[in-house]
Amino acid sequence: MGLLKELNLPTGVIYGDDVLKLFTYAREKGFAIPAVNVTSSSTVVAALEAARDAKAPIILQTSQGGAAYFAGKGVKNSAEKQEASVGGAIAAAHYIRSVAPLYGIPVVLHTDHCAKKLLPWLDGMLDEDEKFFKQNGIPLFSSHMIDLSEEPVDENISTCVAYLKRAAPMKQWLEMEIGITGGEEDGVDNTGVDNASLYTQPEDIWQIEQAFRPISKYFSIAAGFGNVHGVYAPGNVRLHPELLGKHQAFVSEKLGGDDKKPVFFVFHGGSGSSKQEYLDAISHGVIKVNVDTDMQWAYLTGIRDYVTKNIDYLKTQVGNPEGPSKPNKKKYDPRVWVREGEKTMSTRVAECLRDFNAAGTL
Ligand SMILES: [Zn+2]
Repeated sequence: MGLLKELNLPTGVIYGDDVLKLFTYAREKGFAIPAVNVTSSSTVVAALEAARDAKAPIILQTSQGGAAYFAGKGVKNSAEKQEASVGGAIAAAHYIRSVAPLYGIPVVLHTDHCAKKLLPWLDGMLDEDEKFFKQNGIPLFSSHMIDLSEEPVDENISTCVAYLKRAAPMKQWLEMEIGITGGEEDGVDNTGVDNASLYTQPEDIWQIEQAFRPISKYFSIAAGFGNVHGVYAPGNVRLHPELLGKHQAFVSEKLGGDDKKPVFFVFHGGSGSSKQEYLDAISHGVIKVNVDTDMQWAYLTGIRDYVTKNIDYLKTQVGNPEGPSKPNKKKYDPRVWVREGEKTMSTRVAECLRDFNAAGTL
């Protein structure tokens, strides 16, 4: 293993061929990189710290809502312009670009799930990418994601192709999604849905590969294999990561090459999955796993436990069980209690890095 020595990857936010090198290496060596949703400088540093300590690369991503939160909940975010989401994502990107080198690890800067009605958000970010590219020879973001899985397959693919054409000159990565994300028994009644539409079929993956490959090699596919977004009670979701293996074999045969795993897969709705399910998916070419929900929970637990434990010090600015004139400033300083959330989130990110075999890959 040696992303830095063997591959000579730079540290800080990486782009283009470095992202391709990282994902190719991950697919070859059998590890995946957790993609952590960040909504603040605090969650960014929690993730960076975990990756640095685990000697691993990391993917940081902002969702449309998370990006707006970065700008501030009080900022207008119209459907047509997505001002807060565009501005917040750009602010997050500059912040991450500034601090990432301090951690000495490669970081992929990504944006999460952009559904059809959110495309103005992506348009705004791409405008900024192109501006940044003119000045610096790299886009601002390493990678973006388009989720048109709810739309007809042909529309999904043709829209993604149009965006891939815009991203390709900047060697910017594009992640797309196909297939129903939901579950067999997750409370959604899928009795009327046949198996073919519940799980992505190999022909769908090949259709994407055929459409994308002539334009760019910088893309990945989030294919449904029984995934759900969010966390459900154990036993309610049945994943079929072996389907990804079938897709790889199908595409490999169509391409007629020696590459047995030609597709870059992304695992969505990963929170709550077992370690074995992750490892099976990774063995079939998953190089990125989204882990938002578990990280939100982890971040809360540190703050929750801190407040619960210190509640008698947090009711007034002055006065606590040690005396009526004792000050509580050291207890209510946000650097103390927010930090507790960072620590528990960091611990959870570290667990993902170990589970996905990414720890120790630098
Ligand atoms: Zn998804």
